[in-house]
Amino acid sequence: MTCKQCGRPLTADEIALHKRLVNRGAAAHLCLTCLAGYFGCSEDVLREKIAYFRRIGCLLFTKADHDVQP
Ligand SMILES: [Zn+2]
Repeated sequence: MTCKQCGRPLTADEIALHKRLVNRGAAAHLCLTCLAGYFGCSEDVLREKIAYFRRIGCLLFTKADHDVQP
């Protein structure tokens, strides 16, 4: 899976964020950089959203040990 705009390989989180914020049924996805451009915000804002969705237990996002809150 690659970004439909710049062709960069996508991470699972980038695909999940695109599904969550843009279109759950999308067949093509944007990387974090292009998604930030799409929304007119910074990549850091999107990274915070990934952390947020993971924290509330959204199943679209993969669990990472270092993000697990006590
Ligand atoms: Zn891209």
